Amino acid sequence: MPFKALKLSDLVLRGVQAAGYTDPTPIQLRAIPVVLGGGDLIASAQTGTGKTAAFALPVLTRLGAHGRTRVLVLEPTRELAAQVETAFRDFARFTDLRTVAIFGGVGYGHQRNELRQGVDIIVATPGRLMDYLQEGTISLRDISILILDEVDRMLDMGFLPAVKDIIGRCPRDRQTLFFSATVPPEIAAVAAFALRNPARVEIGVARSVTASVNHALYPVATEQKFDLLEALLAKTDFDSVLVFSRTKHGADKIARRLKTANHSVAVLHANRSQNQRIEALAGFKSGKYEVMVATDIAARGIDVAGVSHVINYDVPEKPEDYVHRIGRTGRAQAVGDAFTLVTPENADDIRDIQRFIGAKIPELQLAGFPYKPLGAPRPPVPRQGQRPQGGQRHGGGQAGGGGGGNWSRFRGRR
Ligand code: AMP
Repeated sequence: MPFKALKLSDLVLRGVQAAGYTDPTPIQLRAIPVVLGGGDLIASAQTGTGKTAAFALPVLTRLGAHGRTRVLVLEPTRELAAQVETAFRDFARFTDLRTVAIFGGVGYGHQRNELRQGVDIIVATPGRLMDYLQEGTISLRDISILILDEVDRMLDMGFLPAVKDIIGRCPRDRQTLFFSATVPPEIAAVAAFALRNPARVEIGVARSVTASVNHALYPVATEQKFDLLEALLAKTDFDSVLVFSRTKHGADKIARRLKTANHSVAVLHANRSQNQRIEALAGFKSGKYEVMVATDIAARGIDVAGVSHVINYDVPEKPEDYVHRIGRTGRAQAVGDAFTLVTPENADDIRDIQRFIGAKIPELQLAGFPYKPLGAPRPPVPRQGQRPQGGQRHGGGQAGGGGGGNWSRFRGRR
């Protein structure tokens, strides 16, 4: 079915055409009619499925012409707020509708100016929005459509009190849309008070890893992790690589070492200033940086066309973060590769991830890499505030279940 059959307005259809989309994705096919019909919706779909357009296109159609602030979209991170606002603006380019992105880490001046001129759509992170609400710069009294995007991450990040407060400030008589990769009970509970008779749209299995991603585990001794990362980068023909670190400090350290090894590297984590974050993302998107090292929160949901490889330098702490990280590659039909470096300490995490995604991830070895014995797992070093670990973890066995197997994806770099 083409977009034309979806009853979007002509001006919005022109925006779709200008974006280069020809056919709707499955989430768009199923969500757009519900949103156009004015009903509430809970959609579970991963990032990369086209969910932004699934809500932006029908919402723009419903708004018609420029007027008061009628749409509020909440996003968990600054990057997502910026990205989703850009999508709205692009799709709305043939309309007179006005949008603004509201997020922290930058000055208030520009945002206040935009607000003063009158906007139809606000895309915001909860923290900065609350600032404006408390000082009275923004009122939500005319909101007729409220969209909560990446709800699971928003709650993970501790935004629940702010989200509840914001929902409470919107008129009761409104349309509410929830988008979340997973819908655990906490989210169902928020949905129960925020939505009325929502339609449910589920695309694929909420826990599945994008089908267009090839993924593999690379067991390695802890002290060889960085060497293996470098060797993987040297042997892989990549366009752009996103490297994930568990910590901000770790991300800085990896980036420093990669720069020393002559890679052009951007870093994205919450301790970077907003300008640094914007520059890192823009440079990575434009190809100025071939590698971006990021932590989970900073990278959640970001859409960078052409990320060919994701490398988990550190195994993610939560199984669902594996799915989100891997979702950065293989977006919208592209095929991407995802590699995870695994040390003996990670055996339990890997088991949890495989259970979560319901699949075994093949183990591979990099041909020609001077592997040292993996050794016994190191005893965990308790961090402040960390919950106690139950006993010693067991090693993941010897590397190379697929020993030197599927190397077709590795081509010597030019
Ligand atoms: P999202 O899940 O909204 O972050 O979208 C993921 C990527 O898919 C973005 O780069 C979109 O521009 C792209 N995309 C969304 N819908 C379509 C479509 N119907 N056809 C082609 N690309 C799309």
